[in-house]
Amino acid sequence: MKIVVVGAGYAGTYAANIVARRTEAEITVVNPRGHFVERVRLHQRVAGTSQASHPLTSMLRAGITTRIGTVEKIGDGLVTLDDGASLTFDLALLAVGSTARPLPGAIAVATWEGAEQARDALATLGPKAVVTVVGGGPTGIETAAEVAASRPDLRVRLVGPAIAGGFAEGARRRVRAGLDRLKVEVVEDGVAAVADGQVVLRSGTALASDLTLWGIVSGVPDLAARSGLTVDEEGRLVVDEFLRSVDDPRIFAAGDCAAVPGARMSCQASEPQGATAALNLTRTIQGRDLTPHVVRFVAVCVSLGRADAVAQFTHFDDSPRKAYLAGRAGAVLKEQVTRGTVFGAKAGVPFR
Ligand SMILES: Cc1cc2nc3c(=O)[nH]c(=O)nc-3n(C[C@H](O)[C@H](O)[C@H](O)COP(=O)(O)OP(=O)(O)OC[C@H]3O[C@@H](n4cnc5c(N)ncnc54)[C@H](O)[C@@H]3O)c2cc1C
Repeated sequence: MKIVVVGAGYAGTYAANIVARRTEAEITVVNPRGHFVERVRLHQRVAGTSQASHPLTSMLRAGITTRIGTVEKIGDGLVTLDDGASLTFDLALLAVGSTARPLPGAIAVATWEGAEQARDALATLGPKAVVTVVGGGPTGIETAAEVAASRPDLRVRLVGPAIAGGFAEGARRRVRAGLDRLKVEVVEDGVAAVADGQVVLRSGTALASDLTLWGIVSGVPDLAARSGLTVDEEGRLVVDEFLRSVDDPRIFAAGDCAAVPGARMSCQASEPQGATAALNLTRTIQGRDLTPHVVRFVAVCVSLGRADAVAQFTHFDDSPRKAYLAGRAGAVLKEQVTRGTVFGAKAGVPFR
């Protein structure tokens, strides 16, 4: 039985390792680079506080074949790669993650290539240069805080219509206090354009900016759409309760690129989906009934530099509870969770 996993992120790596532990299937993982990108640390890569990458050889179990390349098309039991080669499969897992769509003039933090460019650009800035981070969600907040903590000589500004908007009042106030402590200037407004060393706000105000970083995750690679599979309005593969494509029962999907009702793009959702997809790939091989996926959230945790973080606890449906944990305890929790995601993907033991 041949299985092709497209994308070696959190969902793909985890799933490949689970299937390898449980079956004799011939597994090939296709990924554009020979390393696993620890995407939740890309803001740290930008600020120079983490490598955010591990060799794939250290992440995938022995026996799994790694193929470096980008899949251009998937369907009819075949994936076609950008170098013209193709691989046949009996079963496949689409786990190509998500991407970012920065306005022209801004650099994306949420992709490996963008983070590399941002890191280089940051290194050229001298004292008092202004860095604007766009995005009031976790990625924007973490990026602004990390840059401010590691480069106190710069002026760092965070712009977004609602900073920590998904948090309850107490946690939101604590995030603002943490940003204040790091001297991050917060501007609650949308960004209309980035051009000529300026960020133009929706209100019309233009702010000088030497470097503008885009701290928003949005959109997914168009592989599923390009392959003629049914996708939702964001381009995510439409799947059934077992995480199988509604068009082709040989293709499963997990992580940011899968349209799973009630899930948000996050590591917290991607790894459990990777586990469900892996169990169902295994059950398909064994001719057993499939198991439905269950979406459950527990918290959203944002780091504010290396020594502070706010963990907003949530209900299973991702709505915020009143309770949160902050300060050094929050930072320790965040670091343990971050390490746990890599450890989990590598170990390949399903936790559901
Ligand atoms: C700075 C930052 C902080 C974050 N913090 C958190 C957090 O604290 N908690 C949380 O839950 N989430 C967080 N996230 C979100 C989280 O990183 C993503 O939701 C998660 O990475 C999605 O996992 P995935 O496996 O679906 O995709 P990814 O981890 O993005 O992996 C997808 C892989 O597929 C590869 N790929 C893409 N296209 C192709 C192709 N055509 N062919 C072959 N391979 C392909 C990619 O190169 C990549 O290796 C954060 C994101 C960022 C950017």
